Amino acid sequence: DGFYYDFAFTSPVSESDLRAIESRMRRIVNEDRPFVHETLTREEAVAEFRKRGQDYKLELIADKVEGDEVSIYRTGDFLDLCRGPHVRSTRDLKAFKLLRVAGAYWRGDEKKPQLTRIYGTAWPTPQQLEDYLKFLEEAEKRDHKKIGKELKLFMVDDRVGPGLPLWLPDGATIRRELERFIVDEELMRGYLHVRTPDVARLELFKQSGHAQLYKEYMYPPMKFEDGEELELRPVNCPHHIVIYQSDLRSYRDLPMRIAEIGNNWRYERSGTLIGMNRVRSFALNDAHIFCTPDQLMGEVKGAIELALYFSDVLGIEDFSYQVSTRDDVKDKWLGGEEQWQEAQAALMEALESMGQSYKIGVGEAAFYGPKIDFQVKDAHRREFTNSTVQVDFQLPQRFDLEYVAEDGSRQRPIMVHRGAAGAMERLFSYLIERYAGAFPTWLHPVQVIVIPITDAQLDYARRVADRLRSLRLRVEVDARPERMQRKIRDGQARKVPYMAIVGAREAETEHVNIRNRPGDQVDSTLESFASMVATEVAEKRR
Ligand code: ZN
Repeated sequence: DGFYYDFAFTSPVSESDLRAIESRMRRIVNEDRPFVHETLTREEAVAEFRKRGQDYKLELIADKVEGDEVSIYRTGDFLDLCRGPHVRSTRDLKAFKLLRVAGAYWRGDEKKPQLTRIYGTAWPTPQQLEDYLKFLEEAEKRDHKKIGKELKLFMVDDRVGPGLPLWLPDGATIRRELERFIVDEELMRGYLHVRTPDVARLELFKQSGHAQLYKEYMYPPMKFEDGEELELRPVNCPHHIVIYQSDLRSYRDLPMRIAEIGNNWRYERSGTLIGMNRVRSFALNDAHIFCTPDQLMGEVKGAIELALYFSDVLGIEDFSYQVSTRDDVKDKWLGGEEQWQEAQAALMEALESMGQSYKIGVGEAAFYGPKIDFQVKDAHRREFTNSTVQVDFQLPQRFDLEYVAEDGSRQRPIMVHRGAAGAMERLFSYLIERYAGAFPTWLHPVQVIVIPITDAQLDYARRVADRLRSLRLRVEVDARPERMQRKIRDGQARKVPYMAIVGAREAETEHVNIRNRPGDQVDSTLESFASMVATEVAEKRR
C-alpha cells in the first residue's frame, strides 16, 4: 500500500518538488546501485552515524537495537538502519511514484521536532502501478469525508472537538431510517429495546472490570464536591446487566435479549481519528443476550444470522470473519483457560455449522471473552470491524447473575454481547463510500424532487408533492427561479433517486415526467409513480 520516509530538511520541501525528486530517483535506479547488507558493532554504527550527523538514527540505535550487532544497508553513499531484506539493486525498482508530503512528529510525539514525511508507492510492473493509482483516484472520489461535506451529511468542527462529528439534517435523516430499520427488525426477532444513560458511577465500571482493563480508552471520571464520581460509559454492558438484575429471572424468561442503540465514549488518540469511521463517541447497535448453556449455540447463530441479514439489506459486501482469541499475556484476560476454550469452540462451531470460513486473530479478544468480528473494508481497502458476537462467562460471574432453573436451583446465565449493524457512525461512513452518496431510495434524505417547468405549474407541483408525502415519502419542490436544466443538474449533484418534472401537459393529465438516477426519462401517471416509489421504499430495494 505504500511507503514513507521522514526527513529533517533544512529548507522546506513541498509537493511541487516531488517530480524533481522522482527524476533524481530514476537516475539512481538506472545506475544499478546494489543494496549491500552489513553488520556493524554498536560502537562502529554509532561512530558512523555520528560522523554523518544522523542524530535521529543514533537515537534509534540507542532505543531499538538489542545486543551488539546493528544491521545496516549501504546504497552508494547512503547508509541506513534496516533489518532487511532488500531488493538486490536499485535497478529492480521498476515502477514507483511519490504521492504526497505531510508533516510528522519524530516518533509520533507532538513534543518532538516536526519532520517532513514523503509518501510513495512502488510496484513490480508499470501496469500494476497504473492500476493502483486508478484505485487511489476512485477511493478519493468515494471518500466519506469528502462526500459527507459535498452532500452536507455531517461535519466536524474544532470548537466541538475532533472525533465528535455533527450529523446535519440529511445525515440525521439517513441515521433515523437506519435506526428504525434496525429496531423494528430486532423487535420482530424477540429483542427488548431499552434506553439507558450515557454515564454511570465509576464503581459500576470497577465491578465490570472496565475501569481496570479498558482504562486507556476511557475518559477520566467526573468528580464532584459531594464525593460523587461519574464516568462516561465506554460500553453498554453494565447498564444492561443492571436491568437484567432488576427482577428475579427464571429459565422461562431466557433467552433474554436486551438491546439498545446506546452511546459509547472512547478516547481514541487524535492521530487515529478518521471522519465518521473512527470517532470518540458513537452509537452502537448493541444487545446483551442472557441465556442458558443449552441456548448458547442457537443465540450465537441467531446473532450471526441477524448481522448477515442487515448486511444483505444494506449492501455490505466483501466481508470476512475473524475469530478473535486470547493470547498468553496473563494479566490481559479475565477467567480460566477452560471457559475460554469452551467459548472459542462455540464461536468456531457456530460459523462452521453455517458453512462460513474464518481466520483467527490471536490476542484480539475482548478482555472477558473471545469474539467473532465481521471485518469489512472501506473505499481505501482499510479493514475495520463492523460488528461482533462475543461469548462472556466473566461478567455474569463478576455481577453474580442468576436465574432459577427448572429444578428450582439458582444457575448462572451466559452473556452474549453482539453488535449486529455496528456503530451508526462507522456504518454510515461505510454506506457513504459503498454508494458514493447515491443511497438506495429508502435511505436517501430526499427521495423525489418535483420540478415545475414554469411558475404556472407550481400549484400542480405542490399537489404532486402532497400526494407523495401522504405516502410518507420525503419530497422537495424546487420552486427557485432557475432554469429547468439547472434544477436537474443540481438534483443530479445531490444524487436524488427521482426527479418529477411537471409542465402544462402533465398538469392537465395528472401525469409526471420521471427522471431517474441513471438519467432515463419516462412518462407516468402521478398515481402509478407514487405507488412505484412507495413500493421501492417499503421493500428497501437497493
Ligand atoms: Zn457488551
